[in-house]
Amino acid sequence: MIVRENPARVTEIVGRKPVSSPEAVDAAVRRAEDARHDWAALSLGRRITALRAATDAIEERHDELAVLLARESGKPLPDCRGEIAFALTYARWVCDQAPRVLAPVELDDAAGRLLVRRLPYGVVACLTPWNAPVILALLKLVPALVAGNAVVLKPSPLAPMAVSEVAAALPATEVVHGGAGTGRALVGHALVRKVAFTGGEAAGRQIAAAAGGMLTPSVMELGGNDPALFLPDFELSEPGYERLVMASFATSGQVCMAAKRLYVPRSRAGEFAGAYLAAASRVLAVGDPLAPGVTMGPVVSAEARERIKALVADAERRGGTALRLGRAIGDLDAGYFVTPVLVTEVPEDAPLVREEQFGPAVPLLVYDTEEELLARANAGELGLAASVWSADEERAFAVAGRVEAGFVFVNTHNRTGMSLRAPFGGVKRSGYGREYGEEGMLEYVQSGVVHAPAAFRAGGAGSAPGAYPL
Ligand code: NAD
Repeated sequence: MIVRENPARVTEIVGRKPVSSPEAVDAAVRRAEDARHDWAALSLGRRITALRAATDAIEERHDELAVLLARESGKPLPDCRGEIAFALTYARWVCDQAPRVLAPVELDDAAGRLLVRRLPYGVVACLTPWNAPVILALLKLVPALVAGNAVVLKPSPLAPMAVSEVAAALPATEVVHGGAGTGRALVGHALVRKVAFTGGEAAGRQIAAAAGGMLTPSVMELGGNDPALFLPDFELSEPGYERLVMASFATSGQVCMAAKRLYVPRSRAGEFAGAYLAAASRVLAVGDPLAPGVTMGPVVSAEARERIKALVADAERRGGTALRLGRAIGDLDAGYFVTPVLVTEVPEDAPLVREEQFGPAVPLLVYDTEEELLARANAGELGLAASVWSADEERAFAVAGRVEAGFVFVNTHNRTGMSLRAPFGGVKRSGYGREYGEEGMLEYVQSGVVHAPAAFRAGGAGSAPGAYPL
């Protein structure tokens, strides 16, 4: 049994979910396999109508679901409302775009008649993390469903409640529960035709290997260690610094595309640190996610809290200074709270800099030349997102072109830089495949061709056996 506690008040149980046995996973995949035929047989228009109705039904429960999400994930209530609103906006955007993006392409000319259709895969397995469970599930479920696939979702056991309610509103959708074991049973199932995964690199490697072993194609949205590159001419107002602070500390720093390393020119480091601390004291309020005014909750688990504290302690042993940020509201001993810190004078080889910290501790790093900046920003195996900050947009775009990341924000970072129409995903070991945009929809279809070469159409003279027609 999954028993999920509230990470802000760990004695409070938010909910329970039975762990799905391998037999239960098999049954769920078979139900999805049965459902997919009728679902795919509906016209695209009818699938869109059904998905729009589901979206409206979810929206009617928006407030209730946001509270549930805040209690299980530890994210402040306004963030949870925002996540659900964004997920619904995305779902509607997919419904709007589907007739154009999924339209078959037909050519009928002197060379013959060619039809390229967008075929669903069949059953799609979706495995998602806990940090933004609703949007990360709908980024997979909605484009998969609109294209005529059926889905089986396995949410993270750390935040399975709200997303299960959301999934229950969707057609041709099954949900299974558990951790790695349940995930393995799902990914390895012979009737699964596509795997969509968001999570960490370690799990990603195992899931990609298991999917590869079955010749099942996969999409991998993995972690990042996003650098923010401040060029010497960057200009940042007080609200700009506040946005920057939240780009690192929203969801207690547990966001794949958070600003995780701040690179600042040496000549402006003092000014930057002062303005950053002042901004944090204005916008960073740590406390219970349901309490008014709170902008940062706890981290997800006791294990995460100890891991992040150890990273900061290690950085301090290596000469770093951890500067406490923001202010506390209420009793922080009741949950998995970590004091947010900006860490200065930390060497580049410290794990806090080299690894994805996934928590509220951000290194401030000083550089001298642009070449050195790019070499340090591009070091490492991860390449999810990054940001470049400059008063000169042309210059920012030129530098952005040299940053090894799937998505580079200019003069902002994290959620405020996202766009529904832009494909999102990593380079290097941050994954492959894309979410959002047209590319995110096309992940869930494969081309199916029907071709009548002109030479063999009724009355055609034919061509020599073995000839290659155009
Ligand atoms: P995780 O990798 O531990 O778990 C993700 C999901 O995979 C969960 O449902 C988990 O139960 C399941 N799982 C874990 N091991 C498995 C295995 N061996 N076989 C099958 N299933 C398995 O990740 P997490 O801690 O929930 O999330 C944090 C990570 O997710 C961070 O690295 C973060 O950067 C990344 N992330 C990436 C994106 C993106 O869009 N690229 C978005 C959000 C989070």
